[in-house]
Amino acid sequence: RVALEGIVKRFGEHAAVDGVSLVAEPGQFVALLGPSGCGKSTTLRLIAALERPDEGRIQIAGQDVTHAPPAERGVAMVFQNYALFPHLTVGENIVFGLTVRRVDKAERARRLARAAELLGLQALLGRKPAQLSGGQRQRVALGRAIVAEAPVCLMDEPLSNLDAQLRQQMRGEIRELQQRLGITMIYVTHDQTEAMTMADRVVLMRAGRIEQQGAPQDLYERPASTFVAGFIGAPA
Ligand code: ATP
Ligand code: MG
Repeated sequence: RVALEGIVKRFGEHAAVDGVSLVAEPGQFVALLGPSGCGKSTTLRLIAALERPDEGRIQIAGQDVTHAPPAERGVAMVFQNYALFPHLTVGENIVFGLTVRRVDKAERARRLARAAELLGLQALLGRKPAQLSGGQRQRVALGRAIVAEAPVCLMDEPLSNLDAQLRQQMRGEIRELQQRLGITMIYVTHDQTEAMTMADRVVLMRAGRIEQQGAPQDLYERPASTFVAGFIGAPA
């Protein structure tokens, strides 16, 4: 369970995140949705400990991790611009983080084999990133998160570099993977279709605050404001 309580993050005078409270239950897929600049990425970075909150508390798996470093939070993160190392093979890219953390060779091999099987990358492990398609590169980025074997996965617009057809396909793949692994997912997107079709719970943000959160159907059928109705595309 991931719980944020009254989180505030300021950059100078401006509060990028302004009193956000939300919960992701174990195994739940939560989408953080909202327009550009509303604070989605900052919220995710706060959960990953890439930013420190000015106010509020963060709990993960029953522990107060508000001041804990990234390595102690049990979260894996997939970024929008999943930079792969061009000089490393696919396999080396996937286990890079494990190598840095000195996970031993046999364990690295076990996790790599599992991730490659889950993602259908077995035949591509020896290639370099330049020899992959966009969708294949995206799978390598997912592989990095999978081998961390973290109970919580954070993704920031992971499909925004893909064309429409591939995006559609990868939505299904990510959702299936998340369910199969039973991980808790917090998934940032500005695409309402993505949020509404993939998530168990949608958190709609506006200007650093949560405008409404609930099951996709709740937001669609009972929008709390004209902003929600407009953003979701529901009748107001
Ligand atoms: P997008 O959909 O465009 O990615 P977002 O919802 O992820 O937007 P954030 O990146 O969280 O938005 O940014 C929220 C606000 O905080 C924006 O006004 C942004 O300019 C500001 N901001 C984010 N990071 C910083 C920073 N390091 N320094 C100063 N301001 C920042
Ligand atoms: Mg962002």
